[in-house]
Parts: sequence; C-alpha cells; structure tokens
Amino acid sequence: MPIEILPEKVIGQIAAGEVVERPASVIKELVENAVDAGARTIQVQIRDGGRRLMRVSDDGCGILSDEVSLAFARHATSKLRTIDDLMAIRTLGFRGEALSSIAAVSHLVLVTRSVDETVGTQVRIEGGTVIQQQSIGAPAGTIITVENLFYNTPARLKFMKQESTEKRQISGVVTRYALAYPHIRFVLEQDSREIFRTSGSGQLADVVVTALGLDTFRQMIVVDSEESARGNHPAVGVYGYTSLPTLNRNDRSRIMIFVNGRAIQDTNLTFAVTQAYHGLMPSGRHPIAVLMLDIATDLVDVNVHPTKAEVRFQNSDAVFTAVQRAVRRAIVSAANVPDFASSMTSYDVDQWAAPGTRWLSQADGEPIEGDAGYLSDELFDDDDPTAIPVGPGAPSRPRTMPMLRVVGQVGATYIVAEGPVGLYLLDQHAAHHRILYEQFMDDLSSKQPIARQTVDGQTFDVPPREARLIEQNLDALKQMGLVVEIFGTNTFIVRALPAILADADAVDVLASLMGEFDPRESAESLTDRLAIRLTAYAAVKSGQVLNMDEMQAIVRRLERSPTPLTSPDGHPTLIHMSNEQLAREFSRSR
Ligand code: ADP
Ligand code: MG
Repeated sequence: MPIEILPEKVIGQIAAGEVVERPASVIKELVENAVDAGARTIQVQIRDGGRRLMRVSDDGCGILSDEVSLAFARHATSKLRTIDDLMAIRTLGFRGEALSSIAAVSHLVLVTRSVDETVGTQVRIEGGTVIQQQSIGAPAGTIITVENLFYNTPARLKFMKQESTEKRQISGVVTRYALAYPHIRFVLEQDSREIFRTSGSGQLADVVVTALGLDTFRQMIVVDSEESARGNHPAVGVYGYTSLPTLNRNDRSRIMIFVNGRAIQDTNLTFAVTQAYHGLMPSGRHPIAVLMLDIATDLVDVNVHPTKAEVRFQNSDAVFTAVQRAVRRAIVSAANVPDFASSMTSYDVDQWAAPGTRWLSQADGEPIEGDAGYLSDELFDDDDPTAIPVGPGAPSRPRTMPMLRVVGQVGATYIVAEGPVGLYLLDQHAAHHRILYEQFMDDLSSKQPIARQTVDGQTFDVPPREARLIEQNLDALKQMGLVVEIFGTNTFIVRALPAILADADAVDVLASLMGEFDPRESAESLTDRLAIRLTAYAAVKSGQVLNMDEMQAIVRRLERSPTPLTSPDGHPTLIHMSNEQLAREFSRSR
C-alpha cells in the first residue's frame, strides 16, 4: 500500500481505542464528566453488561447549546487551556478525548441543558457522525446514552469479556467514584434493577458501608494522618479506612487508592499498604483498604496515560512512606484497643524503620510508668525457666497490654486471665505463635545463627518437583536452623532442626513447609512464610494442658509484643471483656 494520511474518521476510531477499552471505560469517562460538571446526583444505567446500552445522567452544569457540537470534537475541553494548567488540575478530565472517542465507536445520544439556558439540546451521533441535532425541553444537566458500543470496530467487539465480567468492572468503577465523592449521590441500575445507591451524605463511612457491607466496615480502622513536609518531602494527607489484620484476602483487588479524588492503579502504593501489615498477616494475604491521598497538584503528574488511571509522583518514595506509615499507625493504634488503659500503650511511631527494613524490630522503649497500681513487674522474673520456650523476654520493650494475672485454662485451649479492666481470654496457640514468631524474626534479623539442635540423620524421599524446590532452598532453610543435605536423587537427610522444634519429627516439619515454596517469590517473603509456618509448628497446640507457670510465661511475653492482638497468620490472640460488659451481661447496674 502506498503511504497515505488517514481520513479523520479512521484517526478518530484508532484514537478511541486508547480511551475506550471496554464498557467500563465509557462509564468511567462519563461519570468523570458528571463529577466535573458539579453533579449532586449521578445515575448510571446499563443493559447487558453495557454492550447494549449505557446511560449516565447528571444534574450538573450542562453544556451551552452552541458548545454542544464542540464537546464532541477531538481535543475539545473546557478544563484546560495551557500545559501549565496541568500542574494545578483539579478536574478529572483535561484531555478532551472522551466524548469524541466514545462517539466514534458507538451510537450516542446526548441531551443536555446548561443551567444558564432555558432550552436544552439533543444530539444524535453514529460512529462519529452527527445524525441529528435539535432543541429540546430538558432539566438542567446532562444525559448521555451510549448504545451498540464497538459496533464499527469488530476487533474490539470480539475482545469484549463475558457479560458478568463487564458488569463487575462497571460496578467497580461506580463504587470507586462513589467512595471518592461521598457528597454525590450515585445510583447504579443494571437491567432495570437498582444494585447500588449511595446517599450523598458526604460521609465516607456511609459509602464504605454501602460498598463493602456493614460486616466488613465493622472490621475497618480509620486512617487519618497528615505527614508533614520534611526537607524536600511533600506533605501527603492519607485518610480513609483499612482492615484489621484479621480481615484479609488472597488478592489485592480490595485495596483502593485515590489521589486527589482520582481512583488510581499503583502497584507500588498497593504494596505499601500490604507492607504496613508485615508480621501481622501472612505474606500472600492482603488487607481491604480505601485510602484517599491528598497531595499538592504540582507534585503529581496526572497526564501519564489516556485512561488517566495512573499518576506519577514527583517523589514516589515519600508518598510510599507516607502511605505505609499512615496505615501502620492506624493498625498499631487499633491494636492498643481502647479498653486498655492508655498509659500502658507506648509505641514510638517515629522509630519505625524505612521501607524495606523490618518493621517489628522495635526500638527499645522506657519501661512504662503509671501501671504500678496493678500487679507490679517484680512479681515476674523474665528469666524464669519454664517448660514452654517463650524466649529470653524483652524487658526493655514497652508493654503494649496491661499486665494480666492468669486465672486458669479452659478446654486445654484458652487461657483465662484477669486484667485491670476486665476479663481476658487468650487463644494459647495463637498467642504463643505470636511470641515465637517475633522471637524468631528478631534472631534472624540480629544475624545470630538460629539455635539449632542436631538430629539423628533421618532420610526422606520426595517427588521430583518438591525435591527441586528443596534443593533450591537449602540455604534459606539452613538460615532458619533447618539443615538438610542432599542424600541421593530426590532423597534428603535432615541434620539439624531449629531448637524450638527440637521435639518435632523432622520429616513432618519439612512436609509442612513444602506448600510454602513458591519459585516466583522473593527471598524475604519466603523467609517470612517459613518463619510463620515453623513457629506455628513449634507453638503449643490447642488441647495441650498447661500449668500456671507456662501460661503466665506466655501472657508475660505477649504483654511486650508490639502487636499482641493477632498471630502472625492473622488469627486473634485474645478477647477482652470489660468490667462494664460483664456488669451488663449480668444485668448489674453500676
Ligand atoms: P474532558 O473531560 O477531558 O474535558 P471530554 O471529551 O470528556 O473531555 O468532554 C469534553 C467537554 O464536554 C468537557 O470539557 C465539558 O466541557 C463538556 N462535558 C462533557 N460531559 C459533560 C457533562 N456531563 N456536563 C457538562 N459538561 C460536559
Ligand atoms: Mg472527560
């Protein structure tokens, strides 16, 4: 073919592909326009997952009748004039591409009336060509109906996913904008059925309840922090909600991050959120979070991609740190549950390590004051030998829980304890697991060799695939005190076990670790998972009868844990019932 400049129409269709990938991208652009138009209510209707029809109605400012056709021209926008305006952009749109792109690949009808005019306009466009334009009576605002998306771009049509997938994508888009704009009422109807509605109350909490459900919301913690500008670090406000460590998922899809009201995809920041849970959730699990970032517009470049789903930060490390700290701070302060006397919580947030280093290597704190009224520290000798290995203790570590007095054991599974403000029930396995894990990670990070115990060389065979995994990870295992040598093809011999596992069956231990090896995983996260698994193996089991000393030893160590309320794999370690709750349960008036 000879070289030729493409006709305008083909250029438009090609360009449209960048903005309009699927029905959900249409909804995204139309909703953004409605938000930019100052709408108080935005209604989204779809039929057949958006293939047949999508309609977005708003009560925003509308479009002046003599600007209507301009709105569909390529690169036509009312939101930006010079490139410098981008530095201060507050609107969601600015590229002037959406309406022209959508109109190029669909049958589109626009009805709009500007608040400044008494008569509205209706335009009908097919594949980018205006078919009809007329004056019409209409309420102030804009209604855009898009039918037969991709009817003239068969390649795109072929790539449309199942209806259910498109529906899910669309409700994802609407949910995100509803979260970002709680003062706007959003309504989503699928095939004439209302499936989502927010109140427009202005309260983020209301939208979170609607979007994620009340059960989930009850397990969310408020994040609210303003990282002050330091040196050349920008000030970043981070607020919203993040889940308790016990509420987690195996994918990242519920970590929703917004920058200045724009839903963005940023794997780096998603990672920052997950990182904040380090040691509180097994690696590979992810929290649920809705986080709004507030950052000066000149420090974010929003013009990275036609879909505007990515942004570039001038200082992405500072933003990463701000998110990680804000979330970590929220989790830790939630871990110091309000029932616990506030004088007993001392956790120096400024001592937190930078990203990439271990978070839980807690800086030494002063012994806390103010709890002398209760059982005094001297009653317990941290070096008291007990049958259960709980480590040497960490006397310099501040207490994160009140001191508890063990009352007894229930069902050989739970430790009953009394504290200054009520009753505590500890899950002995989860609590011990937390303690052993912290001890183990402390030892690992101090680079001391993990105490280990030689065992009579026990050989074992594994299937070839597993054998390769073991071979590849011999060093990682050794670092954790598990010395394994190759004995033959697919045969190994165990030479030593970590001391905390001295009594365990070596082959059994290894078998339990097999599921943790994932060739794609980073060494750090593998170590973490192995540590969680090994310490779970070593921790007292439920069903194991403990004597008072053993129970007291567990409780005493847990009191010093920076994050005493969950096991490293995210199970609760203790339940607290306050004196008030007890009185209420027994109908005692106080
Ligand atoms: P952009 O949003 O990047 O400016 P669009 O192609 O999405 O580009 O829209 C073009 C212009 O049409 C906007 O700048 C705005 O002036 C006008 N417009 C589009 N949708 C609406 C709406 N729902 N209400 C009012 N004006 C709108
Ligand atoms: Mg737009």
